[in-house]
This record gives sequence, structure tokens and C-alpha cells, in this order.
Amino acid sequence: MEKDIFCKIIDGEIPCYKLYEDNDVLAFLDISQVTKGHSLVISKKHYDNFLTIPKEEMHKVMDVAQLLGQVAIKFMGAKGVNILTNCYEEAGQTVKHFHVHVIPRYESTDGFILEMKNNAEGLNLPAIANFVKENLK
Ligand code: 5GP
Repeated sequence: MEKDIFCKIIDGEIPCYKLYEDNDVLAFLDISQVTKGHSLVISKKHYDNFLTIPKEEMHKVMDVAQLLGQVAIKFMGAKGVNILTNCYEEAGQTVKHFHVHVIPRYESTDGFILEMKNNAEGLNLPAIANFVKENLK
């Protein structure tokens, strides 16, 4: 199977601006820099996304994402941070290797648009809540 781009970065076949590395986790600057300092935190072992990675390994990635978010606020002048991970193409995932975006936010017009529209009208919220709750069991 063809290696994905992040596996190639882990193996040193593609360069990156490395921010953090340990046995399980790698963090580096996202090439697209949605905002200044936009970084990616990835698991070194290949998993497709957040929904398929084992919990312990996911937690290690999230620990590093938290640290990078704290650095953005403390030292980079960010006033906010978006931590996000896309699962599957329909949700905007373009690289099929679990990764978390850490996107420092300097002001609301800094170029990153996260639109959370209110589409609740007409939905049966009690029924949806019950359905999800039942399936959590
Ligand atoms: P996704 O859309 O899958 O959530 O995010 C993938 C991210 O990987 C994108 O933000 C994109 O800019 C970044 N990316 C893709 N290829 C490379 C690369 O070769 N190097 C780096 N540093 N980032 C990459």
C-alpha cells in the first residue's frame, strides 16, 4: 500500500518544520499556515483518523496539541486557538492519517472561517438525543 504523506514525513522522506517529537507523537508546522503557527500533531503509528485510533495513543496526541495551544496563547500573541480534527473526506479530511490541527487565532478576521450555522429548526431534538444515548450503551 502507498504510504500517505504523513508516514513519509515520519520516515524523513519529506521534510517538515518539526516542533515536537517523541516515540509516539510528531508535531510540525502545517504547510498551509491557515494562521501563523498553524501546526499538526500526528500519531507516529498509522491510524486513519480520530475515530479509529486506540484511546491511549489518541490521548498522547491530544496532550501535545494542548501544549502547542498553550504556547500559542502564552508566547505567540494568540488570543484563541482552534483545536480540530477532521474524520473522513465528507468532514474535510484530506490526509488519511490521524492528525490534530492547532490553529492559533489572533483576531476573528485572521483568515480562518469556522462556520457553525444554527440548523436546528425542524429537527426533533428529544428523539435525536434519545437515539444517540441508546447507541452509546
Ligand atoms: P486535513 O484536511 O486532512 O484535516 O488536513 C491536512 C493538512 O495537511 C492540510 O492542512 C495541509 O495543508 C497539510 N499538509 C498536506 N501536505 C503537507 C505536507 O507535505 N507538509 C505539511 N507540513 N503539511 C501538509
